[in-house]
Amino acid sequence: MIVGILKEIKTEENRVCMTPAGAEVMIHNGHTVLVEKDAGAGSGFADAAYAGAGARIVDTPKEIFDAADMVMHVKEPLPPEYDLIREGQIVFTYLHLAADETQTRALIKSRSVSIAYETIQKADGSLPLLTPMSEVAGRMAIQQGAKYLEMAQGGHGVLLGGVPGVDPGTVVVIGGGVVGVNAAKMACGLGAKVYLLDMNLDRLRYLSDVMPANCFTLMSSPATIRKLVKEADVVVGAVLIPGAKAPRLVTRDMLGTMKKGSVLVDVAIDQGGCFETSRATTHGSPTYVVDGVVHYCVANMPGAVAKTSTLALTNATLPYAVEIANKGWKRAMQENAEIKPGANVIDGKVTYRAVAEAFGMAY
Ligand code: NAD
Repeated sequence: MIVGILKEIKTEENRVCMTPAGAEVMIHNGHTVLVEKDAGAGSGFADAAYAGAGARIVDTPKEIFDAADMVMHVKEPLPPEYDLIREGQIVFTYLHLAADETQTRALIKSRSVSIAYETIQKADGSLPLLTPMSEVAGRMAIQQGAKYLEMAQGGHGVLLGGVPGVDPGTVVVIGGGVVGVNAAKMACGLGAKVYLLDMNLDRLRYLSDVMPANCFTLMSSPATIRKLVKEADVVVGAVLIPGAKAPRLVTRDMLGTMKKGSVLVDVAIDQGGCFETSRATTHGSPTYVVDGVVHYCVANMPGAVAKTSTLALTNATLPYAVEIANKGWKRAMQENAEIKPGANVIDGKVTYRAVAEAFGMAY
């Protein structure tokens, strides 16, 4: 198969969908890899590294769309690419179609085989191509929280780890899933006093077993959140209710009871945010202040650490990409139940229920 690696064209997106090491694996499996010029530049991978792995560098996306059996991206195809996608071509990338009717209609029109990273699903219900980005965002949430606690950044000047003879900072993490556990681990590692909240008692039992002694697990409730935010230096929003907007767990009233110069990091902002005062921000202008509390609400946190994010994402995507290339999409879906739910649009038809339902289309 000819596999095409496209350069990302979305604003602030520096990741790339395959590393030179991944290209080498693909080539060892008997495939040809085309890489758009400078595709890896934002993540620190030079064209020469791809060429050294045996890939061929091409100048334009059109050359990739014209030649490749499977094109890969990180983010969804954008309007300048819609008409380049060919009938029968496999498009393997994050698509997030349920929120994007224009793109859904473009993929229907293209008659391509569009497979979404985000709907590849394991038997236990987990989403293996979303997990790495939640790991990155969770860990980064504490790095950002610690930074914005500094006085020059608008914070109230607390060092999360404290020092001998001085109390550490307090971190409250709401949601004990992938983002939450990664945030809590980082905060614990810095020496902060950490409260980790979830609604799922079995999850809390597990977290209580595996987390360090400076992490206290608590059942999430409005009363617990109301009490904890008063003493928090950093609050991380890490909840997810699948298929729904994030619940507003920290209200405007609660904000007034928080310490001035404390920091809210709303990782769940991509689902609308779990603080009443959250609104999406960008890496260029990541924070704003309400009632003296610093809000960090960047919807694409992994984009700021493109090198780590690229490596984490491609660790997870490569095995699926190789299987699809080796077997072709039909046999890969027949033989691997995890790949099958990745099918979103095939040959002009929506094949993923939630996308069809979002736009009242036949399924
Ligand atoms: P997850 O499903 O692994 O975990 C979510 C957890 O929230 C679950 O354990 C669930 O029981 C818990 N929860 C639900 N309602 C709760 C409540 N009221 N109180 C406390 N806990 C509650 O999800 P995840 O992968 O950790 O993702 C969390 C959020 O972060 C999602 O909205 C995801 O889209 C977002 N995210 C954002 C970025 C970014 O760049 N901003 C990056 C990755 C993930």
